[in-house]
Parts: sequence; C-alpha cells; structure tokens
Amino acid sequence: MTVRIDKEKIFELIDERRPRGIVVNAPGGLLGQTRGIIEEIEDRYGIPCFLIGDSCFGICDTVDDEVEKLDADLALHIGHNAVVQEIGKYTHLIDAVDDVKFDSVIDRSIPLLKGYKRLGLATFSQHLHELQPAKERYESAGFEVHLGKQNNLLFQSQTFGCDFSTIYPMSEEVDAFCYLGESEFHAVGVALATGKPTYVLDPYLDEIRDMKEEAEIRKRRSILSVYKALDADVFGVITGLKEGQKMLPRTRWITKRLEMQGRKVVQLAMRDVTPDALAPYRDIQAFVQTACPRISIDGFTFDRPVLSIPEADALVRLMEGREIGEYLERPKWIELTVGLIKEASR
Ligand code: SF4
Repeated sequence: MTVRIDKEKIFELIDERRPRGIVVNAPGGLLGQTRGIIEEIEDRYGIPCFLIGDSCFGICDTVDDEVEKLDADLALHIGHNAVVQEIGKYTHLIDAVDDVKFDSVIDRSIPLLKGYKRLGLATFSQHLHELQPAKERYESAGFEVHLGKQNNLLFQSQTFGCDFSTIYPMSEEVDAFCYLGESEFHAVGVALATGKPTYVLDPYLDEIRDMKEEAEIRKRRSILSVYKALDADVFGVITGLKEGQKMLPRTRWITKRLEMQGRKVVQLAMRDVTPDALAPYRDIQAFVQTACPRISIDGFTFDRPVLSIPEADALVRLMEGREIGEYLERPKWIELTVGLIKEASR
C-alpha cells in the first residue's frame, strides 16, 4: 500500500502565498511521510517549517493558534480530506489518498453478506475514491447498493469518528453497512450511530469483520456510565481547548440542565481529557466533556463516568423522568437534542 499526500497542492500553496513560516500537523500514521515533505519544503524554500508534536486525531485538531505563537502565516493539516479546503484563518487541508484495492476483500465478503439484499457503503478520507468501484462490484453480485449524500463538510458516504450525517439518513433503506478500510474505530461508530449490522472490509488483512460485538460492548458501557452519573452530586463539565472541539453552547446547555437538577458543577477546560488529567479532582463524581465524543465512547480507562454530548443528553432525559432512548443513534455525536441548545443559551 502507498498513502500519497498531495505534495503538489502544498508546493502550489507555498508558491502562491510565499509564507514566512509554516506549521504542519498530521495524524500518527502519516508522520513519517510528513517529515519527508517538511525537509523538502525547507530545502526548496529555506523557510522554517514546524511539525506540531501534539496529538492529531481528526479534522478538529487544527492549529491556527500555533501559527501565531510560532510567528508563521500558513498551516497545513494533513490527511483529513473534506469538502471544505480551508479552516480558520491560516489552515489549509491537504488530502492523503491510499492506493490499496478492495476487489479481493469484496469478493471474499459476498458469501458472508448473502443474507442481506440492500447494502450501504461508507468509508473514511483515504478510501473515498474506492466507493464507486466497490458499489459496482457489489451490484454486479446482485446487491442493491446505496451511497450517502455529500454535505457541506463530508463527501459522499464519508464519515468522521463523530459525524455520520452522510449515511445516517439511509439507515432505513439498507439492511447492513459495509465500511471500506481497516478502521474498526470508524466502523464501530457507524454500527452505533445507525443501529445497523456493520462490517469492516479490511483490504490489508483481506478479511471482513462484524462490528456487532465491539458495538455492543461500547453501548453497554455507555449505558452503565450514564446510570452511574445519575447518582453523582458533583459534576465536572469539561470544555475542550482544541480548536475544533470548543463547544461552549453545549457546555452551557449541559451546565444549566445539571444545575436545574440540583447538581453542583465545576467548569474545567483542557486540551486532552485523560485519566491522569482528571485524577486530581477527587471530589468530582462524574464528568461531562464536550470535546470529542470518542474520548468517552471508546474511553475504557476512566475510573469515573466521563460522558460525551449524546450521553449527557441521555442523562438529562433520565433526570427529567423520561426514557433513556437510543441516544447514540443520531447523525452527529457532537450535537445535542435540537432546539434545547437555543433554549439554554437564552
Ligand atoms: S471530535 Fe473526535 S471523533 Fe470528531 S473529528 Fe475530532 S477527533 Fe474525530
């Protein structure tokens, strides 16, 4: 396999903008290649180019603030392809594309999927160009195949770890989802957000994996956390300090709801929500974080409940005497129940 970062776009941007300094960030798997590109930039243009060493998990990890701190004037955010090409004041998205093929794993999956008639396809940034060939291959095997609609952020059938808005609307039109790519992280999100059987098509191991068990584990743990939090008197409500994770209206909504239910709220703000970061706050019995939903939904190492936005929604429902509901089944895990956000910000 080769993941190809769009170097041509990088050089075009530099030629056009003539920056005095550049800040770059990339997810862990692309750091090696990114370092090579940084060396090329420095050799070719003789300008300082800083690789940001903090974690970079998603499109939310943009680094406009670092641009100003480092006296630069351009930021390159690599590998989280999206419909938008620029974010904030300085950041340009640089695509990365994986050339691995899915023909073999699709053929292998066909006998296992024969109980389904209608398939939905989804994938993440690096495999978007494989959706159409995959659709045609499944169709020629007799399946009815659906792709999700592009929106103002995501391409057709693309998902992020917290955003399933392209494929969620077709949940009722398909019997199962097939996720192109080795990422169980993304596929398990699809299984939880849509409530549909979801299979990873891993082109590297040439195998298909059912996400049912992984989704069930997360769902059970999540429900348990919500019920545990119901007993808490003191909550920490955490606002994320990463640029794309600052969700102050959500923080305000949750704080207001908890206070209305007689709970004490301690407001915290941090870049990385980890067990170590929460350890000093021993008097706090449960946390709600509005930064990244996957910190909670995949966070197996916290010693107290740490709820994400949909889980906080579920908690409030319980506090108000309503049913908990299928709270993870929604198009985006960064959005509260629509309408209540406005109400809280009055
Ligand atoms: S908030 Fe979390 S899941 Fe969403 S894009 Fe950022 S890192 Fe990914």
